Amino acid sequence: MSTKEELIAQFICAGKTLYDRGYASGAAGNMSQVLPDGTVLATPTGSCLGSLVADELSIVDMEGNLLSGRKATKEVKFHLAIYKNNPEVQSVVHLHCCYCTAYACLKDLNPDSVLKPVTPYVVMRMGDVPLIPYYKPGSIHLAEDIAKVAAGHKAFLMANHGMITCGKNMTEAVNNAEELEAACQTFFLLRGMEDRIRYLTDAEIEELR
Ligand code: ZN
Repeated sequence: MSTKEELIAQFICAGKTLYDRGYASGAAGNMSQVLPDGTVLATPTGSCLGSLVADELSIVDMEGNLLSGRKATKEVKFHLAIYKNNPEVQSVVHLHCCYCTAYACLKDLNPDSVLKPVTPYVVMRMGDVPLIPYYKPGSIHLAEDIAKVAAGHKAFLMANHGMITCGKNMTEAVNNAEELEAACQTFFLLRGMEDRIRYLTDAEIEELR
């Protein structure tokens, strides 16, 4: 098991790699990590994922009370909702990355599983990706709705907002974020060719679960 110091170093590195490769811009997006003592490391409000500083990172308890560092992102509420309802998850990434966010602005998505699979990877790594209805960023309703579907899910699209991915560690959460962004990008690349797409069959999808 990694030490607190190792987890903090991995956290800063993950933020920088996401930022440097264009998955986060400005002060958008946030991350969190469960620490060995059960407290939660989170990005401070208004921070840029590309330049996180160890001493400034927020540490909160599972109720969101600040224990050290700067004030946590207001979106930490839904990170905590995931940890409380899915003990397998130790790391959460929330991004407003381009293709996921564009996809999350479409009407009439299937709320239980937003992506109709054309490749195996999201199904293999994340299973079904549910849609969380739109609420103002930081709203407690976002956390409440995510809490309802947190168990058994590793990724979520947030209507008109962005995406969330989870992992048993930060590497897995980041890899899932990249895979979900790639899947949404594929959707847009195939736009206009809907009648020529070969979707995975139900049997092929079942084989991946
Ligand atoms: Zn957000």
